[in-house]
Amino acid sequence: MKIAFVASEVYPFIKTGGLADVAFALPKALKKIGHDVRVFLPKYKQIKSNHLKHIKWVTDLELDGKWFTVESVELDGVTYYFINEPALFYRDSIYENDDRDYQFAFFSEAVLRLLGKIDFQADVVHCNDWQTGVIPFMLLQRYGQYDFYRNMKTVYTIHNLRFQGEFSSHNLRHLGFDYQDEEVNFMKLGITHATYVNTVSPTYAQEILTDFYGERLNHLLRSRQDSLCGILNGIDETFFNPQTDSSLIATYSCDHLKHKEINKLALQRRYGLEINENIPMIGLVTRLDAQKGLDLISDVLREMLEEDKVQFFILGSGEQKFEAYFQQLRDEFPSKLGVHFGCDEKLAHLIYAASDLFLMPSLYEPCGLSQLIALRYGSVPIVRETGGLNDTVKSYNEYTREGNGFTFANYNAHDMMYTIRRSLYFYKNQPENFKHLIQNGMKGDYSWNQSAIAYENLYKKLI
Ligand code: ADP
Repeated sequence: MKIAFVASEVYPFIKTGGLADVAFALPKALKKIGHDVRVFLPKYKQIKSNHLKHIKWVTDLELDGKWFTVESVELDGVTYYFINEPALFYRDSIYENDDRDYQFAFFSEAVLRLLGKIDFQADVVHCNDWQTGVIPFMLLQRYGQYDFYRNMKTVYTIHNLRFQGEFSSHNLRHLGFDYQDEEVNFMKLGITHATYVNTVSPTYAQEILTDFYGERLNHLLRSRQDSLCGILNGIDETFFNPQTDSSLIATYSCDHLKHKEINKLALQRRYGLEINENIPMIGLVTRLDAQKGLDLISDVLREMLEEDKVQFFILGSGEQKFEAYFQQLRDEFPSKLGVHFGCDEKLAHLIYAASDLFLMPSLYEPCGLSQLIALRYGSVPIVRETGGLNDTVKSYNEYTREGNGFTFANYNAHDMMYTIRRSLYFYKNQPENFKHLIQNGMKGDYSWNQSAIAYENLYKKLI
């Protein structure tokens, strides 16, 4: 099959969250099972030049009176096409521009135009999140009337329902589309017009049909329930591999866990925490956003730092209020809390390896990759039972010794603290069971293999 995969961020070129990881790993996995997958993204100013060393000019294109170029890079057999319109993408911010509706409508249409220009007659155009939600609409209203595009099917993947892209429809009309309402919601267009809609975990696919999680689109989603499913994300198991990861101080495996501790000691030393391999360390690698359950953490972190024999390490970027709060606590408890604000891929890997437990008490979580990475690195996840967390983390049962983490149901700080303390109890008092729990997690299959096959089956069904 021919698949055009369109995303606003793709690792390793540009990443602000999990979408970038998916846009890297899924096409690669689909390629591995024999499909011709091409990935399309904007050429942002922020893409580091070392990723563009072998970039090649592909073609020139015109849209809305603007001429621009398209370039490509090959990586592991996948071709990445960059829409290179500097006036729109050579900006200091990726998503925070006032004309972002125009930026991404332009990008979306440019991709459709490019398909024709490079003669890539995709069976499926796979769109992701609000930035590319207009594609199914554009395909139906304009491009679908041409033979070349007529049979193209669209899959629209919701990675996060919260960010919908709501704008005045002026720019869509400016691009010549027939759109009556004054306002437009890009995600709504995707959900309404795509051949099939999916989200990134079975639990989230159910949750978004409810008022609580539905972000005001639950009724629309219900109307598409026959064409809606959840497919779990995976992680790239070559990139996230504690046996070979060059970001670690010491590599290790499920059967040789001893070296895992060297990472903890290194992190403690580097950030001035108490150096002691027997203190349990709880890691967090996260966007600093209320979605991630940071209110719960803020509610009880001080109490735990005062009372519990535990260390926390927080790597995060995002809202200033959380940064300020965690920094203040770090200054009060420097031997027990380490912080680093910003995005740092290498440090993230080290934290997954260094920590014994990984905390992710999300308010909602479409899939979540961090808990999968944590499992792979033997950092036992403590999560709230929502979305993909609910599908991937099973609470430890001390009688059957089944499970791979600790979970709690209600969005409640004390339920979370109780669960953290339960995990600390096992760490301290039942080291053999705790080791078994780590190994349960490390042995799980979090690769893209299963998910790629699920997407392949979905594409087949559509065409
Ligand atoms: P989301 O996409 O909602 O941010 P996910 O759990 O799906 O959450 O994916 C987050 C990804 O981003 C993981 O790979 C995680 O390790 C990474 N990540 C999050 N915050 C940071 C950070 N500050 N520095 C480096 N990597 C980060």
